[in-house]
Amino acid sequence: MDTITIDSLIEKINEIDKRYDIGKIKRAYELADAAHEGQMRSSGEKYITHPLSVASILLDYHMDTDTICAALLHDVVEDTDTSLEDIRRQFGEDVALMVDGVTKIGQVPLNTKEEQQAENIRKILMAMSKDIRVIIIKLADRLHNMRTLYARPPHKQRKTSLETMNFYAPIAHRLGMSDVKEEMESIAIHYLDPYGCKEIERLLDVHKEERDSFIDHIIERIRSRITDIKPEPIIEGRVKSIFSIYKKMYVKNKPFDEIYDIYAVRIIVHSVIECYNVLGVIHDLFSPMPYRFKDYIATPKPNRYQSLHTTVIGKEGIPFEVQIRTVEMHNTAQYGIAAHWKYKAGLNGSVAGEQRFDWIRQLLERQQESDDVEQITDAIKTDLSQDEVYVFSPKGDVFALPNGANVIDFAYAIHTEIGNKMTGAKVGGRMVQFDYQVKTGDIIEIFTSGSPNYGPNRNWLDIAKTTGAKTKIRSWFKKERREENIVCGRDELEREFKRNGIQNTPELLEDTAHRARFDSVDDLYAAIGYGGVSMSKIIQRIKEAQSRAQKEQSQTLPTGDEITEATNRRSRQKGIIVEGVDNCLIKFAQCCNPLPGDPIIGFVTRGFGVSIHKQDCINVINNMDSAENKDRWIKASWAGVDDETYRATINIIAEQKSSIIADITAAIAINRISMNEMNMHRLKNGNTELIITIEIAGVEQLANLMLRLRKIPGVISVERTGKQ
Ligand code: MN
Repeated sequence: MDTITIDSLIEKINEIDKRYDIGKIKRAYELADAAHEGQMRSSGEKYITHPLSVASILLDYHMDTDTICAALLHDVVEDTDTSLEDIRRQFGEDVALMVDGVTKIGQVPLNTKEEQQAENIRKILMAMSKDIRVIIIKLADRLHNMRTLYARPPHKQRKTSLETMNFYAPIAHRLGMSDVKEEMESIAIHYLDPYGCKEIERLLDVHKEERDSFIDHIIERIRSRITDIKPEPIIEGRVKSIFSIYKKMYVKNKPFDEIYDIYAVRIIVHSVIECYNVLGVIHDLFSPMPYRFKDYIATPKPNRYQSLHTTVIGKEGIPFEVQIRTVEMHNTAQYGIAAHWKYKAGLNGSVAGEQRFDWIRQLLERQQESDDVEQITDAIKTDLSQDEVYVFSPKGDVFALPNGANVIDFAYAIHTEIGNKMTGAKVGGRMVQFDYQVKTGDIIEIFTSGSPNYGPNRNWLDIAKTTGAKTKIRSWFKKERREENIVCGRDELEREFKRNGIQNTPELLEDTAHRARFDSVDDLYAAIGYGGVSMSKIIQRIKEAQSRAQKEQSQTLPTGDEITEATNRRSRQKGIIVEGVDNCLIKFAQCCNPLPGDPIIGFVTRGFGVSIHKQDCINVINNMDSAENKDRWIKASWAGVDDETYRATINIIAEQKSSIIADITAAIAINRISMNEMNMHRLKNGNTELIITIEIAGVEQLANLMLRLRKIPGVISVERTGKQ
């Protein structure tokens, strides 16, 4: 191959399309040439031949001006003094982002073996490139490095070939770039199994002359039968890729003679109808082999590959494969996603909005109007990286973590001991905080302590995002720090007791520990200390126990009018906050029956506890300013919603109708409200009055019920009453 120069590159550009910005491409070349001055390739050529070759490969794909510039500059930031900022200033944001993307992908460690890991890496490489052009440049870069791999030392040849086989060829395949994929695989397999490949070449060589004349003969026979098709179809004959033969021989263990598709003939026509017509001609000329016909036009492959495949046997008894496709299908088969740019440039007819790839088809469908590459590639990126981020250990192991995870989660994901002993972390060579959120492509190094006494910090429990890490941190504290846990737990419990106005007694602690199924108070403390038991549950239990105790106490107290009323009703200490008083007995005044949500006020009774009235209760209004009582009124409010119910009485006037009671009770039942009492009597005017006492959760529920009752045909009025 001739050594490529900027002049030959520009010549090629001019042949392809006059719309390229030659000035910009020349400037990119000049910057790269100056930056790489004095650097050499292993082949002994000047380094600049590499970026020039990569640009040339991308020109075959008709990639745009910015991509060609980025290709020329792709190694400049990594290998020379030129900064990304310089590139941004001189060539704009797009070129800078592409160069940055290619550089970063080059830094991803790839020496992983497992299948799952390989799949993850492919995802990362895709996700890392905001712009799919980054991947296409990287593939061209790798392709040129493969072509010049002969100049590298053997261990490099092997490593690079493995990477290519595991990551880059599958990416090219996924993007539908079959030419790139086949060439990469064929070169890689040469370095990975030189002896196996030599054997295939020898077998192919033995029959080279026969084969060539065999193929020529077939092409001639086909051509003579389809002369009526205009424009004339393109017919090519070839030997299938060495790697596809290699796989059949060494992976599927088929003898060379039984590999049917060593020879292949490709016929490229101009319409789908012609594809099927030509297929008929082929099946007429040669004998089709059973079960070898595949219609990828009707059912395209996931990467949008379309073609008709059939295997037939010629007179000589040698089977060969025939592929029939349109020009457009052929472009897609060769260029894959890159065909998008080719078409976009208007070089081969426009196919705006055509659905080319299964996995981006939906995205394309949503964006048929705007043929905007940026949008599509952005969408691919979010599609791949929404829930998970992929990060690496310095050795190249991949870890998938949920979005938002930090270095603590990462350390515990590697190994519990790494997490427990972590002293710090570096991302991309820089020290980071423990709450640093990891991003796809981050290479994370965790530093650990060798000291046997070293362990995680308690505040890691708040920082860690994954349950995995949290569980491991808790279990470390549980095992390793009993003394410390007890102290922490005791402090925390005492603080909570104070906050809730609970009297701390040894009996209470014993009781609480046993109720929570701990053997001792220390065990309870320890559990609180390592976070193994929820503080709010403990406090809730204690409060419940205390309110039960108070209730029992109140029932044994001497009776007075108000107290009798209070105990006849359900005790309702909960749900009311009385200013300045903790744990007092609360009762609801019978005169106005306050419900949650009503504005209320408390009255400190002489006998026992505080009675709660509605603020607009007639007794409140009358007694508020009396000399005797005015200091005994106290502010009170409802403490949020709970599942307690309250008693309310409603008065209904309805027409005399036999169905009315059924309708009213049904309305109450539908609202899942329980009825305590119902009294009914006939009024003098012939209507019926019902007085119903119900258990209700709050004012809102009551209002809803009343609304419903008012809608019942025959109901005249519905009013809430206080029992007077
Ligand atoms: Mn390169």
